[in-house]
Amino acid sequence: MTDRHLLLSATNITVKYRRGRQHFTALHNVSITIPEGSTVGLVGESGSGKSTLAKAILGLAPIASGRVELLGQDITSLTGRRRRQLGSTMQAVFQDPNTSLNPSFTIRRSLTEPLRAQNLLAQVDVAARVDEVLIAVGMEPDAANRRPRQFSGGQRQRISIARALITNPKIVVCDEAVSALDLSVQAQVLNLLNDLQRKHGLSYLFISHDMSVVKHICHEVTVLYRGEIKESGPTSAVTTTPQDPYTKALLLAAPIADPRRQRERQRSVIPQVFAEPGDDFGSQEADFPRHSTTSD
Ligand code: ADP
Ligand code: MG
Repeated sequence: MTDRHLLLSATNITVKYRRGRQHFTALHNVSITIPEGSTVGLVGESGSGKSTLAKAILGLAPIASGRVELLGQDITSLTGRRRRQLGSTMQAVFQDPNTSLNPSFTIRRSLTEPLRAQNLLAQVDVAARVDEVLIAVGMEPDAANRRPRQFSGGQRQRISIARALITNPKIVVCDEAVSALDLSVQAQVLNLLNDLQRKHGLSYLFISHDMSVVKHICHEVTVLYRGEIKESGPTSAVTTTPQDPYTKALLLAAPIADPRRQRERQRSVIPQVFAEPGDDFGSQEADFPRHSTTSD
């Protein structure tokens, strides 16, 4: 590995899905790197290929070309047992907590699943570890004895994060992990992710369609549009001086609290976004996410 501090890199990833007899290119030559201890955002509207990149990294999407490296190891085409072993380094949290919490299992059973998958049950003090991760996400240890339906959406997402933490991973892929939550609960979960990062040096690939969330949590951000990268860089640069019109449109779509500031921003940004001659997506305005103040 050339850079000791580079935890994960995906280089020139192309993913093609089969659609009947045709192939649909969901990702075209996409690259992203995640340094140790940092949060890298991947933002774009629905259908832009964000989950496909997450899946490519997690070994769940058909990679036509490109390379994924974790801690310098080429994991692009690892399958079976060797792929599953990566679960001690890399875990994921998805939008729907039901993905990781089986409704009919106790929380304890779901939490210990990754330990079972990594053959770690005999090596760790399971009861202590369950307590530890529940406390780490701000839950009471006795939550372990209950079932998912006894918790709110925000609590279930905390428990999903606890499950992701139980193997002590270095990186967690968060795919729309806060998108289904109310704003105040979103803020709590984002703060939790930040705290866990500070305490454990975790890295995140943080995927969201919502630029306001990405702005809040990511050190760097990559903007994806129709399977291609439009722009990437430090979050402050991308959000204050976006270079690509599509990034500007995403920023415009992200709600800000003060309606007057929002209107002023719209006035200043819209002409730049929609009036550039020769702009290659001028005819695709309908694809932009709708912004929140069109009706005020
Ligand atoms: P996002 O997460 O940004 O919403 P996705 O990665 O889920 O986007 O999807 C990107 C594109 O790939 C979409 O057009 C979607 O319909 C398509 N797609 C995703 N998964 C599959 C699949 N398994 N088979 C065929 N097409 C897919
Ligand atoms: Mg998605």
